[in-house]
Amino acid sequence: MHQTHKALGILGGTFDPIHHGHLRMALELYEALDLAQVHIIPTYKPMYRKQPVATPDQRLAMVQCAVGGEPALIADDREIRRKGITYTIDTLIEMRAEMPDTPFCLLIGIDAFLGFPSWHRWKEILDYAHIVVAHRPHYHLPQAGIIAELLNEHMQKETSFLHENMAGGILLRPITALEISATDIRKQIAMGRNPRYLLPDGVYEYIKQHGTYSISRI
Ligand code: ATP
Repeated sequence: MHQTHKALGILGGTFDPIHHGHLRMALELYEALDLAQVHIIPTYKPMYRKQPVATPDQRLAMVQCAVGGEPALIADDREIRRKGITYTIDTLIEMRAEMPDTPFCLLIGIDAFLGFPSWHRWKEILDYAHIVVAHRPHYHLPQAGIIAELLNEHMQKETSFLHENMAGGILLRPITALEISATDIRKQIAMGRNPRYLLPDGVYEYIKQHGTYSISRI
C-alpha cells in the first residue's frame, strides 16, 4: 500500500503523572524513526488497570505542561473528550478517519506490549497501526505463546517499513533506560519526598499547586 505522509507516533497511557521516562521514549522514537510528530494521548478511563488518582483534566493539563515548547510532541485530548471507557482501537479508528493517508505507529513500552493480547479487539489494532515496542531493562520477550507468534508474523527490521506501509509491522527499538514509574512518583510525593528530576519541573509545580497526589488521595 502506498501513502503520502510520514508516519505519526501515538503514545497512550494514564500519565498519572507524565514523567521523563515517557517523554524520553516519545522524543527518542520520534528521532530514531523519523516520525512526523508524536501524539501523547491520556486515557480517560482505562479498562484493564487500577483507575488513575488524578482526574482526566489534571492528567491532560500535566501532559500539556510537559510538552509545551517541544514541537515534536503534541498533547492530544481526544480520549478525554470522548469520555467513557477508553479503548485504543476506537482511538485508531477515529484517527484513521481524520488522517486516511498517514501511517500510525503505536509506541508502547515492553511492559505494556506483554499484555497486548488482552487489549480490546487487539487483533484489529495491527490493521490500523504499526506497533513500536520500546525496550526497557528487566523485561524479556517470551519465546513461545501469542506474543512470540505475533512477533514471528509481524516483526520488521527496517524503519522504512513504517513509512511505506500504513500498518501491520512490529518493530523493537532500544531506548535510554530510565526506570521511572508514575506509581513510584505518586508514592514519593505522598511520603513528602521530592520527586524533582524524575519529571519536568512544570509538572511538579502543577502537582504541588493542585495537591494532586497528597497522602489522602493515593
Ligand atoms: P504506572 O506506574 O502508574 O503504571 P507508568 O509510569 O508505567 O504508570 P503509563 O501511563 O501506564 O505509565 O505508561 C504509558 C506508556 O509509557 C506505556 O506504554 C508504558 O510502557 C510506557 N512507559 C512507562 N514508564 C516508562 C519508562 N520509564 N520508560 C519508557 N516507557 C515507559
